[in-house]
Amino acid sequence: MEVPLLRFQSLTPDQIQNHNNCSFPFLFPMSKCLEQRILFSGYGFSFNKTKWKKNPFWEIKCCSLDRGLQPRPKPKPAKVDIDVSVRSNFVRRPSVGLCSQIEKLVLFARYREALDLFEIFEIEGGFDVGISTYDALVNACIGLRSVRGVKRVFNYMIDNGFEFDQYMRNRVLLMHVKCGMMIDARRLFDEMPERNLVSWNTIISGLVDVGDFMEAFRLFLNMWEEFSDAGSFTFAVMIRASAGLELISIGRQLHACTLKMGIGDDIFVSCALIDMYSKCGSIEDARFVFEEMPEKTTVGWNTIIAGYALHGYSEEALDMYYEMRDSGVKMDHFTFSMIVRICARLASVEHAKQAHAALIRHGFGSDIVANTALVDFYSKWGRIEDARHVFDKMASKNVISWNALIGGYGNHGRGSEAVELFEQMIQERMNPNHITFLAVLSACSHSGLSERGWEIFQSMGRDNRIKPRAMHYACMIELMGREGLLDEALALIRGAPFKPTANMWAALLTACRVNENFELGKFAAEKLYGMEPDKLNNYIVLLNIYNSAGNLKEAADVVHTLKRKGLRMRPVCSWIEVKRRPHVFLSGDNRHPQRKEIYQKVDKLMLEISKYGYVPNQKTLLPDVDEQEERVRLYHSEKLAIAFGLISTPYWAPLQIVQGHRICGDCHEAIKLIARVTGREIVIRDAGRFHHFKHGHCSCEDYW
Ligand SMILES: [Zn+2]
Ligand SMILES: [Zn+2]
Repeated sequence: MEVPLLRFQSLTPDQIQNHNNCSFPFLFPMSKCLEQRILFSGYGFSFNKTKWKKNPFWEIKCCSLDRGLQPRPKPKPAKVDIDVSVRSNFVRRPSVGLCSQIEKLVLFARYREALDLFEIFEIEGGFDVGISTYDALVNACIGLRSVRGVKRVFNYMIDNGFEFDQYMRNRVLLMHVKCGMMIDARRLFDEMPERNLVSWNTIISGLVDVGDFMEAFRLFLNMWEEFSDAGSFTFAVMIRASAGLELISIGRQLHACTLKMGIGDDIFVSCALIDMYSKCGSIEDARFVFEEMPEKTTVGWNTIIAGYALHGYSEEALDMYYEMRDSGVKMDHFTFSMIVRICARLASVEHAKQAHAALIRHGFGSDIVANTALVDFYSKWGRIEDARHVFDKMASKNVISWNALIGGYGNHGRGSEAVELFEQMIQERMNPNHITFLAVLSACSHSGLSERGWEIFQSMGRDNRIKPRAMHYACMIELMGREGLLDEALALIRGAPFKPTANMWAALLTACRVNENFELGKFAAEKLYGMEPDKLNNYIVLLNIYNSAGNLKEAADVVHTLKRKGLRMRPVCSWIEVKRRPHVFLSGDNRHPQRKEIYQKVDKLMLEISKYGYVPNQKTLLPDVDEQEERVRLYHSEKLAIAFGLISTPYWAPLQIVQGHRICGDCHEAIKLIARVTGREIVIRDAGRFHHFKHGHCSCEDYW
C-alpha cells in the first residue's frame, strides 16, 4: 500500500499553492483512489507489512506521539512571581490578593468580573502579575470570546515586559485563535522563536475552524517536515479538514495513517472519521468505523445518526437512535434535536412525541435547540397548540424559535395569531430576520390580511433595514392574487429593484390560474419558460389554463412541446404513516394488501359526501400527473391514502399525508367534505404548502 503522507511530503507548499485551484485530487491518480476504496470499503482493512517497513512512519512508536502534546505543568505562582520580579526592570507592586481573586473568579467561570478586576492593573500599572494569573485571564478571554479582552490582556503583557515561555506563547496563540483573530494568530505563530506540537495543533485547528482547509493542509505538511510526528488530535483535525474539502481520498489516507500509528481507536479520530465518511457520501465506511469503536460515546452515536440523516436515511437514523437508547449511553441535546428533526421529515408524530417525552425525562426540557425543533415539528403538522405549549415553556428563545411558531400559525391559516406573535416578538426586542418576514407575510397572504401584509412589507426596509428579497415579493404577489388584484401584482413585479425571479412569475401564474385570467397567465408562463425551460410544472399549469378556457389548439401545442422536450408526467405518490410504518400510494394503485377495503372506503366516502353537494368535477384542472386511465383519475393517491388512514386509525386520530405534487381541485373539494363527514383533521403537505382540513374547511382558503 502506498504511504500516504509521503506524497504530501514530496510537495513543497508552493506546489500545493499553485495547484490550489484544482485542489488535492491531482495528487491521487484515480487507480489509487479505487485501490483504497477496496481497502477501506469497510470490511477487512489490511496493509502490507514488508512495504510498510520502507516508509518513514516505520520508526514511529506510539509513545513518541505523546511527546510535546501534554500541556506543560503550570509553575507554582509564588515562584514565578519572584522570577519575574528579579528579571524585570519595572517597579513591582505586590498584587497577590488581586491576582488570586482574578484566578478564583475565572475558576468559577465569572469571566466578565475577572476582566473587570483586571482593569485595576491596566489603570494603575506596574503590578506584579504572575503566569497563573495571565493563564486565568487567557481562559476568561476564551470563555467570553472577547476580542477586546484579548487585546487588553496581550497589550498589558507586552507593555509590562512579560517574558514569554513556550507554554505562555502557546496560550496566547490559543487565545487569539479561539477568539477568531486568525490574522493576528498567524502573525504570532510565524514570529514564534520555537514551535512545539501544541503550537502547530493550535494554529492548524484554528484554520480548520474558520474553513481555511487548504492552508491547514499546507501547514500540516510543514509540520510533518519539521517533526515527522503528529498525534491523534492533529489527525482528527486534518480528517475534519478533508471532510470540509469533501475529499474522501485524502480522508482515507489519513485514516490509513491513524491505523498505522495505532491511534485509529482514539475517540476523537473515530468521530472525525465517521463524520468525514458520511459527509463525503460513504455511509457504509462511516458505519464500519462506528462499529469498530471500542467504546461508543455519545458523540460517536450522534455523528453516525447525523450521517444517516444527512443522506436521507431517516428510518435507519431512527433505528440507530433506539439502539443508542437501549445501549444505555447518555443522550444529549444534540441527539434529541436531531431526532425531532428526523421525525419531522418522516412526518411521524408518534416518534416525535416519544422523543419529546425522552427529552424532558433526560433533563433537556429547557434546551433551546431541541425545543425549537419541537416547535417547528408540531407547528408543521398542525399541532399548533402543542407547538405553542412548548414555545411558552421555553426559558429563552432565539429568532428561529419565533420563526417556527409564526410560520406554523401561517401554514395553518391562522394569520391573525401569526401577526400577533410577530408584534409580540418586536415588543420583546427580538430582531426579526428575513425568514421571520417571510413567515409573517405568507401568514397574511394565507389569511387574506392584505392591508396588514402591506404594512409589514413596507416596514421591512424602513424599520428593520432588511431588503425585501424575491421570496418576499412572491409572497406579496400571492397576497394580491388572492384579492384578485392581478394588475397590481404585475406592477409589483415590474417595480422590483432586481430582475424578477422564477418564483415571482410562478406566483403570478398561480394567481392567474385561480382568477382565471388566461391572457396574463399565458404571459407569465412564457416568462417562466425562458427561465425554467425544463420544469414540467410550468407547462402543466399552462395546459390547465388552456384547457379551462377551451383553447384546445393551444393546449395541444403545449402537449406537443412537452413530447418534443421529452418531459414526461410521472406517476406521483402520497404517503401516510400508520403505526409507525409509512404506506405509499400511487394513483389507481393496486399493490396494497388491503386494496379491496381501501377502494370500498373511497367509494363509500364519495357516496357520503355527494349528499353534501359533492359532484365529481369533470372539468377539473389536471393535477401534475398523467391521467391516461379512468381508474387513475377517479382514485388519486391522496384519496387512497386518506381512505387507508381512516380505516386503520382510531376515530380521533388526525391524518397526516405527504405528497410531492400539487393537490388537484377535485381532491381538495372532496377532502374538505371528508373532513366534515368523518370529523377528522386531515393535514396534507403537497408540493407548495400545507393544507389543514378541518370541519369542511381548508387552511389555504382554496388558494393554492
Ligand atoms: Zn386529486
Ligand atoms: Zn387547501
